[in-house]
Amino acid sequence: MVRIPLFETPLSLREPPQDRLYPTGPGLYDRFGRHINYLRVSLTDVCNLRCVYCMPERMTFRPRHELMSDAELFQIVQALVELGIEKIRLTGGEPTVRPNLVEIVRFIAHLPGLKMLAMTTNGILLPQLAEPLARAGLKRVNISIDTLDPVQFRRITRWGDLDTVWAGLEAAEAAGLRPIKINAVVTRGFNDDQVVPLARLSLERDWEIRFIELMPFGSEAEFAQAAVVSSQETRARIEAELGPLQEVPGHDPRDPARPYRLPGARGTIGFISTITEPFCAGCNRVRLTADGKLRLCLLRDGELDLLTPLRQGMSMAELKQHIVAAIWQKPWGHGLPEGIIPQSRLMSQIGG
Ligand code: SAM
Ligand code: SF4
Repeated sequence: MVRIPLFETPLSLREPPQDRLYPTGPGLYDRFGRHINYLRVSLTDVCNLRCVYCMPERMTFRPRHELMSDAELFQIVQALVELGIEKIRLTGGEPTVRPNLVEIVRFIAHLPGLKMLAMTTNGILLPQLAEPLARAGLKRVNISIDTLDPVQFRRITRWGDLDTVWAGLEAAEAAGLRPIKINAVVTRGFNDDQVVPLARLSLERDWEIRFIELMPFGSEAEFAQAAVVSSQETRARIEAELGPLQEVPGHDPRDPARPYRLPGARGTIGFISTITEPFCAGCNRVRLTADGKLRLCLLRDGELDLLTPLRQGMSMAELKQHIVAAIWQKPWGHGLPEGIIPQSRLMSQIGG
């Protein structure tokens, strides 16, 4: 039997509320009673763009041998699904640059018990990949588009071409990867003047446009703290130009973006306000990094290494025991209000 230390970094926890109910039953739960059924899997830390808020231009990526092979990825993901994960989102770096992506999607999509397989992507490779991915079992995509201005787009992504991403978006729609969600990180001085044109897309298209508050990570934290724009400011700007936003009924409280609609719009608008309105109480997710670590909170460094013990011969049954124990200890919430900024990874090494 292989013994491993549970956490590489001690987890510091805030006190949970005293009056929570503790549901029991099949599936994964943490000790605050939250049902964990959503896994975000980073397939690679590599990206074909270099967004200014996400990573430095001269980014160093992990050597291949440090990343999970396809077989290792399948074993870990299968263990998590057998334990009760029902929804998986593939992410990166940029997930579409992972070799063998269509086969990976096909394997994961067919795991018994999995109800939803989605992907977050910059869209650049979707013109050629959307259709084979949809055929392999991918259901939905979130595409990151921070601006509709091609010059600004190039400045933010450092070399991205907006027309290619737009072609990717259309390919995704044609392949049935719907409803399309668009992620826009609002960054002061880069695209804060674009929130109205982006919101306007929801008038004609049945898309969900989601505005995300910039989060601080490691070496890029100072940039993020200086350039963050609150959801309140973004919302006020949109409403001043396009009219009042009406809340859409039936919102799933575990989805961080509460949906709103502009008068007469086909699509919706959401705000992911991690900084100004944390949604930790409804958190139902954990993350698997491309180097095989189970990360319990996006914004805390505590992780459980799954890949090393797997390579040392740990059985599936033992792996599952460690996963259950780790998820039980998922921290209550992030520490940004206390000034605790995650240091061990950049956003691109977690996947959002
Ligand atoms: N490369 C893919 C993409 O851009 O969609 C997937 C990975 S990317 C890390 C996932 C999402 O995180 C993107 O929507 C991106 O804009 C967002 N993101 C990156 N860095 C961020 C940060 N510091 N704060 C908030 N969102 C960030
Ligand atoms: Fe790449 Fe996505 Fe990060 Fe942009 S946000 S650099 S596309 S991982």
